[in-house]
Amino acid sequence: MPTYEPQSHIDDTWQETVNEAGARAVESMREELDALHHARECDTEQCQEGADSEDPDRWHDEDKARGRIEDTPLSVEVRSGWYFPGADRNAPPEEFRILLSTGGPASQIVGTLSEYGDVETARFQYQDWGTPWTYVEGSMVDENLQTFAGQFYYGEGG
Ligand SMILES: [Zn+2]
Repeated sequence: MPTYEPQSHIDDTWQETVNEAGARAVESMREELDALHHARECDTEQCQEGADSEDPDRWHDEDKARGRIEDTPLSVEVRSGWYFPGADRNAPPEEFRILLSTGGPASQIVGTLSEYGDVETARFQYQDWGTPWTYVEGSMVDENLQTFAGQFYYGEGG
């Protein structure tokens, strides 16, 4: 599995902050996905799954679970790659960005799309006043981030 080069200009304390923010974000996305999955699958009466979470209803209400996921990003954007000047521009998007929060700190998920618009890679980035967008350390592919990002629409693709 490919990994990004370490960003050597980033100091260790900031990188730790980024990693921790990423872990919190992934944990909260995983809960949203778990609730959605459970809401789809469960037909147990009086089921207590999710009863002590902050929004218990969503664990047995698929629309509510989906609505919370859809309401999470501030924006969902795509972009495509380099192309020759004057070339017929009809390329599918190659990358996406899901902006989660802005200001200090700000956070987003960025990643790549297949030619069919499916999420191939997804990674968390974090930024604060005076710092650049910084990736969490580790693999380019986080399964939870990938699944979460896969809930959004990026166009028809090829
Ligand atoms: Zn249940």
